[in-house]
Amino acid sequence: MADVWFDTCEVTCPNCGHVQVEEMPGQLSELKCKGCGEVMHTPKGECCVFCVYGNVPCPDAQIAGSCSCGSEGA
Ligand SMILES: [Zn+2]
Ligand SMILES: [Zn+2]
Repeated sequence: MADVWFDTCEVTCPNCGHVQVEEMPGQLSELKCKGCGEVMHTPKGECCVFCVYGNVPCPDAQIAGSCSCGSEGA
């Protein structure tokens, strides 16, 4: 069973700290910050920008359950 708990993500820009809510259709390798205009890139070896800069892992990582973002609990 593939269950996705979150389909939106609060992404924090590492450059300016701007937080923007993005829909998560899946993994995303790049995301442009609406605050400063910088493009956030996924560091090599990481899953995607949601897993790196977001408050929840992307749907793929949620399904795989292998992301170590530490958003478990509750
Ligand atoms: Zn920014
Ligand atoms: Zn991811």
